[in-house]
Amino acid sequence: MKTLLLMALAAAVVTAATPSFDEILGDRPYTGERPMASACRMRYAGATDAESLHSYNVRHYRLDINLPMTNRSYVAHTGITIKSEVPSLAACSLHFVNLACDSVKRSGVPLSFTTPTGLLAVTLDSPLPQNDSTVLDIFYHRESTAAERGYFFARPPTITHAYAMTCTPPKDCRYWMPCWDEPFDKPERGVMLNITVPDTFQVCANGLLDSVTTGSGRRTYWWSHPYPIATYLINFAASRFASWQHDLIQPNGDTAPSIYFMWPADSAVSVSTFGRIPGIFDFYSDTTMFGPYPFEKYGQVPGYYSFPWGAMENQTLTMIHTSWLRNGDDNGMAHEMSHMWWGDMVTCVDFANVWLNEGFATWAECLYNGHMNGRPSFNSYIAGKAGTYFGQHRTRDFPLYNPPPADIYKYEVIYCKGSWILRMLQFVEADTAWENPGIFFQALRAYGDSFRYGTASTEDFQRINEQFHGQDLDWFFNEWVYDRGYPKYTIAWNKQPLGDSWLVSATLAQHNDTNSARLFHMPYPIRFNCGSESTLVVFHPQDTVAVDTFVLAAEPISLTPDPDNWVLDSSHVTSGIEETPSAEVRAPNGGPTIARGVLFLRDCPRTGTVPKAALLDVAGRKVLDLHAGPNDISRLAPGVYFVRQASGVERQASGVTKVVLAD
Ligand SMILES: [Zn+2]
Repeated sequence: MKTLLLMALAAAVVTAATPSFDEILGDRPYTGERPMASACRMRYAGATDAESLHSYNVRHYRLDINLPMTNRSYVAHTGITIKSEVPSLAACSLHFVNLACDSVKRSGVPLSFTTPTGLLAVTLDSPLPQNDSTVLDIFYHRESTAAERGYFFARPPTITHAYAMTCTPPKDCRYWMPCWDEPFDKPERGVMLNITVPDTFQVCANGLLDSVTTGSGRRTYWWSHPYPIATYLINFAASRFASWQHDLIQPNGDTAPSIYFMWPADSAVSVSTFGRIPGIFDFYSDTTMFGPYPFEKYGQVPGYYSFPWGAMENQTLTMIHTSWLRNGDDNGMAHEMSHMWWGDMVTCVDFANVWLNEGFATWAECLYNGHMNGRPSFNSYIAGKAGTYFGQHRTRDFPLYNPPPADIYKYEVIYCKGSWILRMLQFVEADTAWENPGIFFQALRAYGDSFRYGTASTEDFQRINEQFHGQDLDWFFNEWVYDRGYPKYTIAWNKQPLGDSWLVSATLAQHNDTNSARLFHMPYPIRFNCGSESTLVVFHPQDTVAVDTFVLAAEPISLTPDPDNWVLDSSHVTSGIEETPSAEVRAPNGGPTIARGVLFLRDCPRTGTVPKAALLDVAGRKVLDLHAGPNDISRLAPGVYFVRQASGVERQASGVTKVVLAD
């Protein structure tokens, strides 16, 4: 049962205090540690913690921040629990930018510190033995003139209500709190965010709200999240919020709240926008899909000011663009929720492996689209991701692994090509039944279990897939993840009678771009259409030209490359008839497709009403103007023709494609 109820942010009066550096650490009205819901880690052979290699390990962050909500300044304290990873830890450095440190203490004893560029370097009063833990209390402030990065603030008349928020991917947490700002050092006991604001404002943050204390016109919201969390996923927002929540039902019947925050005027529209969240949750948390939701709560809050993304998957509190709130974006919201498993529960160990976050979430978004709208919609939707990647490939491409630093969030490559890696692994592992998850999903859940609440690398993901697949996958990851590009196939085939059967010879040749791997060993499915019958064959290329023969029971009339769209490729048939399974599926490649006397053109730029595409004969003479969509070519004589397409929005140059019309 899913419930919808309006929730008021309760305020329990506990203390009255005027915040200052010394007093900001109020007594926490908190009853004790909240255990993690499901901290079990089912380990698979070879699974290891990809943990911090620096001299200490962060165990917990406690933040106490006092926001005036009138300008960009604040005063704050961060208590960082660290454990020594070396025999004698005498000093430690934290990431710390655009902030001013006022003092550092350990058990009340002032420590000396310096602030070299980008860092806060602290000298301990006595060395910390290996494996011992201590708390460093850092008191600091942010000037109202500090550049907006990491922390953002605006007030009327710029926006309707004063709004403060953090948004920090990939490494901007250091701009609003001292921290060790690398994804590989998650504080295993999580984070506490104690945010004080004027009592007309409300605050949301990671985890659950333990309590609210008030006094002197101020109110402190005590949020805590006792789960490991990468620093770039720590988040809060403060404004004048209304709030309501759903109960999300775990597969075992347990519930977790999904809490939504928005300006009061957006309450009504939010009910329909967020109304689909439980359905997304049910799809992903199914035990045959990703498995139970890994955290104690979910939620969403709009980034009302300066939000630079479509959305950001802050742990248990996704921040979305206001356009999503007001117009809805189910695919986007599915993408973000899937990050709770892939990105938040299992985080890329570093940003060389960021495709493990974004490729996974983009693929999950495609799955949800197909779940809601059916297989044709899925095919079209994920083909759109392929088309987006192809457009980028034409101008500049790079491997998914270790992208250039400025390109770690390059949508066309990291997200779109990344999503296809999972699609193709499903095919390689023969997990191909529509909406009937099999061995690939078993491997995926094992990956989740092995690195639950930790971090993982591409090698980790490959190793677990090899364990389930039972075969080496070096070739797959080398060609698709560590190298660039995609295969461009040309297919030729012919047939001849063989007794009461037909002998078919087919050639699959790769003419890959110079910015692609020379050879992809990817298995490639081809369907021969024989009247009402069809036969699917799979090529296993060992070289750039693969030749094979097949004996078919019925006469093949046409050939369909990759009919279920499992491979990120472009293909065209140079001899024999090609029939495409669906114009939508093939169209993102941008080229024409031909079936039964119809030439289908997905995109056809126009000048006014004049189409800018044409069919030419071998002498270069125009025989037909072409327009977007189906073009009747049934009256043309068999032979070789060329489709000429002029530059369009996404095409940098005119393209000419050879087509063959058979008898
Ligand atoms: Zn994402």
